[in-house]
Amino acid sequence: MEEKFVFRLPKEIYFGLGEGKRTGELIKRLGKKVLLVTGKNFARQYGILDELLASFAVSSLEWVIFEGVEPEPSLETVDRGVSLAYRENCDLVLSLGGGSVLDCGKAIAGVCGNGESVVPFFEGKALPHPGIPWVAVPTTAGTGSEMTNNAVLTDYTRKLKKSFRSPFLVAILVIVDPLYTRFMSPYLTAVSGIDALIQAVEAYTSPRKNPMTDFLALEAVGRLWRYLPLAVQDGDNLEYRKEMALGSLVSAMAFANASSGPVHGLAHMIGPDFGIVHGEACGVLFPAVVRFNRSVLEERYLRLAQVTGNRGIEEWLEAFEDLMRRVGLRTRLREFGVREEMLISVIRPERIGASIKENPRSMSTEDLCSILKETY
Ligand SMILES: [Zn+2]
Repeated sequence: MEEKFVFRLPKEIYFGLGEGKRTGELIKRLGKKVLLVTGKNFARQYGILDELLASFAVSSLEWVIFEGVEPEPSLETVDRGVSLAYRENCDLVLSLGGGSVLDCGKAIAGVCGNGESVVPFFEGKALPHPGIPWVAVPTTAGTGSEMTNNAVLTDYTRKLKKSFRSPFLVAILVIVDPLYTRFMSPYLTAVSGIDALIQAVEAYTSPRKNPMTDFLALEAVGRLWRYLPLAVQDGDNLEYRKEMALGSLVSAMAFANASSGPVHGLAHMIGPDFGIVHGEACGVLFPAVVRFNRSVLEERYLRLAQVTGNRGIEEWLEAFEDLMRRVGLRTRLREFGVREEMLISVIRPERIGASIKENPRSMSTEDLCSILKETY
């Protein structure tokens, strides 16, 4: 077992039904003017945005809304947010939404005070110092962006999806109100829940794992496995929503301090090229990656199989595919209209990141290719 490790978390996490209403009161010590980053219309449509703005007004905060962040945010969107924050003299950024909105707001806050554009940081330049404070209010349970120190962005001209990473990108404050997750459709519940589940598994099998992340990852896997089908089936049940929000939070704590693995590495390749939603892409790839890694991670996988009530690894993988289908997701690449001969084209050297390079069993391009073929 590793003896030395570092464990980082946002400064404060507020969790509970109804905590969202307190947002204004909780953030007012961070500054006067908020750049509120949100998506196309989810938060507005379900009254979450109004509830937050009402709480800002009560706490005499000022705000400007940066709305319409797209799924898989582009570098240009981040840059537009940065200009708006400068122009309006914002003191802090608050993201209200799912993973893409969280990542976008996080990147905007990081760049503010450090430059005009996210591009050099996306290309690998280190952030010299902290940007402005970033607050996360997730409306999904699963992406874990509220815990991590990276923002996944996409350069659409090069079809390149990767992370802008810095210890300065960790949230100052996270407010998890499970009430805000109850508006997710069954599909969104399923894809974000599967993402959280696989993130916990990859944290547990990561070369950067430590005793704290192990403990959290196992807890998350058991909880998410149990409650995901229930939350998909009965989205109005607040008990299920609370369990999923908690499971997802705990999963995120684990993988933010360990690392993600090759399921994520490969999902970042097939997602943008084939138009497959991140969580579903992860779910499709998962069994083949586990089979590839089985020889070096047997004991760890067996433990994961056990916490989900399965005796062996094969039984666990079959139960996983069954879980995917029960929550309404596809399990094969061919179901997305992908042609088999297209598979090899997604594997490009500039896309092979740390999650693949650091895999405990070395992975050649041929290996990646055969994993994709196996999932076809
Ligand atoms: Zn993920």
